[in-house]
Amino acid sequence: MTTIDELLANNRTYAGAAESGHLDVRPRRRLAIVACMDSRIDVFAVLGLENGEAHILRNGGGVITDDVIRSLAISQRKLGTREVMLIHHTDCGMQKLTDDGFRAELQEATGIAPAFAIESFTDPEADVRQSILRVRRSDFIPHRDLVRGFVYDVDSHLLHEVTSH
Ligand SMILES: [Zn+2]
Repeated sequence: MTTIDELLANNRTYAGAAESGHLDVRPRRRLAIVACMDSRIDVFAVLGLENGEAHILRNGGGVITDDVIRSLAISQRKLGTREVMLIHHTDCGMQKLTDDGFRAELQEATGIAPAFAIESFTDPEADVRQSILRVRRSDFIPHRDLVRGFVYDVDSHLLHEVTSH
C-alpha cells in the first residue's frame, strides 16, 4: 500500500464526516496567502482559517514567481480577493541550497539547464521584502495597498511581521 492509497482511505473517512453544503468559490475573507510548501506549516491551523475563506498559494520558499502573479491576478480580478499575506519561515529548505549550485546539479544530472530561476535565499526576512516588492510592482494585481509579509518561526509557531522600507 502506497502513501497515496492510505490517503485515499483517509479521504473516504473525511468525506463521510465532512459537513455537507456548498461554499462560494470567492474566498469569504477576500484574502490570498502565499506560503512556503514546508511540511511543518499548517496554514489553516496557524491562522485559524476555515475552508472557503482564503486562497492559499504554495511553492518552495513561498517566492513570488510568474505563476504566483498569475494566480494572484485571477484571485483578485476574478474571485474578489483584496489582501495579500506572504509567509516565509525559519529553517527553510531554500536556505540550504544556492541558485548556482542547484542549477549546476540539475544540469549535471539531466544535461539541461532549467529555464526557471531557482530563487534560493539566505535571509528569509530579506526575501519577504523582495516578495512584497514584486507583488507591489505588478500591474496585473489591482489591489496592492494591503500586502503584508511575515516570517513564521517553526519552533515557537509565531508569525513575525517584516516591515518593508
Ligand atoms: Zn520553506
